[in-house]
Formats: sequence, C-alpha cells, structure tokens
Amino acid sequence: MKNINWQDLSFGYYKTDYNVRCHYKDGKWGELEVSDSEYLPIHMSSTCLHYGQEAFEGLKAFRGKDGKVRLFRCEENAKRMQNTADYIMMKAPSSELFSEAVVKAIELNKEYIPPYESGASLYIRPLLIGVGPQMGVAPSKEFLFTVFVSPVGPYFKTGFKPVKVLMEHTDDRAAPHGTGHIKVGGNYAAGMRAGEAAHHKGYAMAIFLDAKEKKYIDECGPANFFGIKDNTYITPSATTILPSITNASIMEIAKDMGLKVERRLIPIEELATFKEAGACGTAAVISPIGSVEDSTSGQVITIGKPDQVGELTEKLYNRLRGIQYGDCEDKFGWNEILEF
Ligand SMILES: *Cc1c(COP(=O)(O)O)cnc(C)c1O
Repeated sequence: MKNINWQDLSFGYYKTDYNVRCHYKDGKWGELEVSDSEYLPIHMSSTCLHYGQEAFEGLKAFRGKDGKVRLFRCEENAKRMQNTADYIMMKAPSSELFSEAVVKAIELNKEYIPPYESGASLYIRPLLIGVGPQMGVAPSKEFLFTVFVSPVGPYFKTGFKPVKVLMEHTDDRAAPHGTGHIKVGGNYAAGMRAGEAAHHKGYAMAIFLDAKEKKYIDECGPANFFGIKDNTYITPSATTILPSITNASIMEIAKDMGLKVERRLIPIEELATFKEAGACGTAAVISPIGSVEDSTSGQVITIGKPDQVGELTEKLYNRLRGIQYGDCEDKFGWNEILEF
C-alpha cells in the first residue's frame, strides 16, 4: 500500500499510477489500453469540447476489515452510462467493457485503495467523450472511454453533521424534457452559478426547484433529496432528476427496515413537516440537512434538532456504509468482491 496520509485525503483529485482507455472508431470499440499519462490527446474540434457530448459516472470501491476489496453496484453505473450515451447520441461501452475497464483501473492502482480503518475509499470516474475532427453540430463518429481512479477521504471531515442549504429560485439545473435524468456535464455547468453563490454565503449547497412551476423540490446540489416523516422515506420523482444509485439503494434498505417509501412531488411547503432530511449520492453517501433557507424570502426552515442527525438517517447511512465496507451482510447482492 502507498504511504499516504489517508486521514487527510479530501474529496478531490489525487494522482494515481495508471488509467485505462478505449477508442470507438470505424463503428467499433478497440482494445482496452493502459496509460500512465494524466492527459488525453484529443482533437481541438471534438464534440465534447464544443457541443457538450460527454457523459460520466462515479462509483466507489472499499477495502474491508477482512482486507477484501468490494466494488459497489458497478453494473448499475454501466447501465446508466448507456442511458446517458443514448440520449445524447453517443456510443456507449457494453456493460462487459465498462466493468472490465473499471476493474482494471482499480487493479492497476490497488496500492491506492485506502485501508479500512481510514474511512476513506477509492473513487472511480468513468468518462465518455465525443472526439475527432468535426465542426458541424452532429453526433461524433469517434468516442473515447476512459476510467481513472482517485483515493478520496471520508466526506465529512468534521463528522457526520447536518448542513445548511440554500433554496435557489432563479437558476434551473435542467428542463423538464431536457437532460436532468442523465449524467452529463452540462447539468453541472448549469447549476454551478447557484452552487457557488450558496457556498459563498456559507451554505453547503443549493437546493433546486422544478423548472416549470418553481413549486417542488428537485435536486440538492449534485445529489438526490429525501425527507423522512411518519415512518416514511420520501424522495422526489420527476423527469429532471438523476436516478441516483445511492438513493435506489437507500430506498431498498428503508423498505427492509420497515419504512414506507414514496417517490412523488414534494411541494416546498412540505419541507417544514419533515422530521429528517438529507441529500444522497456516491461521494457523501448521505449529507443530513438541518435547515433550508429560502434565498428570496430569507425564511429559514429547520429540520430536526439543531446539529443532530436524525435517528433514521443515521441508521440508513450506517447500514449502507456497513454493506459497502463488508461489515453488514450484503443481502441485496450489491458488492462484487475483487480478487487481484
Ligand atoms: C451522480 C448524481 C447523483 C448521485 O448519483 P449516485 O449514483 O448516487 O452517485 C445525483 N444527482 C446528480 C445530478 C448526479 O449527477
């Protein structure tokens, strides 16, 4: 294992030794290649640079107490990249190619998989871009699929504590019949201004509203939103929302724990009725939300007790992390144990 101060890792880019790449050209995917360069040589007229033809994924591998490395729900990420690629007219790697590339990128950098005790993990970033010389607006004929990894620290350096979020009334991250449901960089570019404004004012993230009516909760920064009350886990359902694999997993766990699960519209007014709330995604798993400030009215909606993580949120978080690290039984069959 590398001599890294694992505890000090943040959620950021950390250089590792290798990455893998695969080119789609002349109607087919080539061989998987290994590279030790951090740079991609691409044509300046590539569609990914000009017209946003790019898709990405994010998933993690964990080292358990038993020393085994577990990869979490890779197949789901492969399928999601295929959905994203389809929508923006790109060729996607098959689930087999996706999985092979991910496992290879992990194996080549296995020295960077953080030890169990650190609470850190290995983040995996698959990226698919349209490349090749092309000026007109049309789908690319060539694509580059690459996978790189980076060890990332526990998301909560200051512990698992509720955060404050700011409700955004002006900017939309996605249109009702746009690209909100797929994982493309353009959604992030659209949401960056609101996210930065929220950070500047001391909030952890911006919470977006539905673009059409501005009445319902959409996504919370780059994560799905959920609220809990009356033994029920409630998460928004809309065409603009990215189907989070973390959220899907939490919903399964919630049902298993005897909670009811509802996927439906969540009107702004309902926020005040939640006993617990959070944002969920691969990076943080769950960020508990303690309050939401309305950026227009200045009204602050508090959720739960100050500085205290709700009981059910904590249970869901512990169970999911427990499965990922191999501390809890993987009864849903989500982990792939990697043998190198
Ligand atoms: C990636 C992403 C999420 C989280 O998805 P996971 O599969 O749980 O990592 C949520 N919202 C948006 C907009 C995303 O891009």
